[in-house]
Amino acid sequence: MHEEVDIIVATIAFGMGIDKPDVRIVMHYDIPKSLEGYYQETGRAGRDGGEGRCITFYSYKDIQKLEKFMQGKPLAEQEIGKQLLFETVAYAETSLCRRKLLLHYFGEPFHEDNCDSCDNCLHPKEQFEGKESIVKMLRVVRDIKEKFKAEYVVDMLVGKPTTALKAYNHHELEVFGSGDDQDVHYWSAVIRHSLVAGLIIKEIENYGLLKLSEKGWAYLDAPYSIMLTRNHNYDEMEEETRTGASTAAVDPQLFSMLKDLRKRISKKLNLPPFVIFQDPSLEAMSTYYPITMDELQNMPGVGAGKAKRFGNDFLELIQSHVEDNEIERPIDLVVKSVANKSKLKISIIQNIDRKVSLDDIAESKGIEMNDLLKELESIVYSGTRVNIDYHIDQVMDEDHRDDIFLYFKEDAESDDIPTALEELGEDEFSEEEVRMVRIKFISEVGN
Ligand SMILES: [Zn+2]
Repeated sequence: MHEEVDIIVATIAFGMGIDKPDVRIVMHYDIPKSLEGYYQETGRAGRDGGEGRCITFYSYKDIQKLEKFMQGKPLAEQEIGKQLLFETVAYAETSLCRRKLLLHYFGEPFHEDNCDSCDNCLHPKEQFEGKESIVKMLRVVRDIKEKFKAEYVVDMLVGKPTTALKAYNHHELEVFGSGDDQDVHYWSAVIRHSLVAGLIIKEIENYGLLKLSEKGWAYLDAPYSIMLTRNHNYDEMEEETRTGASTAAVDPQLFSMLKDLRKRISKKLNLPPFVIFQDPSLEAMSTYYPITMDELQNMPGVGAGKAKRFGNDFLELIQSHVEDNEIERPIDLVVKSVANKSKLKISIIQNIDRKVSLDDIAESKGIEMNDLLKELESIVYSGTRVNIDYHIDQVMDEDHRDDIFLYFKEDAESDDIPTALEELGEDEFSEEEVRMVRIKFISEVGN
């Protein structure tokens, strides 16, 4: 919390980072057991709106390990575990946009063709017709009577006469070596894709024996086109330059000096650093070099309250950095871009003073309620008070309001919305309600 260390490693990620909004990288060294887990854990990166990179190391061996843990558990539990794991594999193996897949999984639509962020959108995988290979593989599974594991099926395909294989006289079958024009990796991928496509089933309780599904039998009779994807060989790829253009203009030296200053102040006041200024605010300062109180207040996430409370030290540091390095400040730019942004905020505050309902404000500004709440959150988090009681009292019953308020006041370890929903009960409370009361809470208590 006080940034004394840069990296935290854990074997179980439960609850990690939920009260820190500026986690920059979430790295999974093992694949999680379910997409729910993956989504929750990756969701902890970049909650302040700054960069959040999620990197997952995926190896099919990890899946096999997880499957092994499941053996011996009650059958019903195995079934559920198998299904969850299956979805995780499908996610890891996909060549589609990962953002789209993940959102879709949780029932949210995503209509962009290219999210410009996930590996599959940034580096599309090469696709090729897989019909012939799939048929070859299914024939092997059929001819060895569905009694063997994936590795065995691969040995059959590439024509590797292992002792086990010879013991069954399988090297004399016609299908033995029918795929010897490709290697082990290729056939393992064909099997994984066919599992995802539902053509074969893996029986975990039976040590992972491969069987044909009904769909698989039908496929043998009447095969159709299925596109497979070739995995990247990153060893052969040229080193890419890092993306993330958002931080391009940031003065890295100043940024790190500002972070040090924030750390010192946070120690002195015994406050977590992000309560002082969040990373995006420091990034903006290292881009626009504000040196007066007015300019500082115009930085995203700063606001009058915080500028007064914490700003002086930062301004001094920026000023001396600008002088020492004879930096020309792009201040005209600031005034323009900030003016437009703050126009909306000012108008929202004025409307709230006049007790216009939030729905009407959103409509008149041509924005969604979600965006309006975001604006309000940014307003209160930067130190300005707003009173939306008139609206809350109209759209929410008293008990709900009090329950949520009390939760933030007494129980909450962080202001995180998903956690709040989980604690309060997602069936009973809506995200919008919780966000509105959080705005009230931050406004009354935090400022
Ligand atoms: Zn994508």
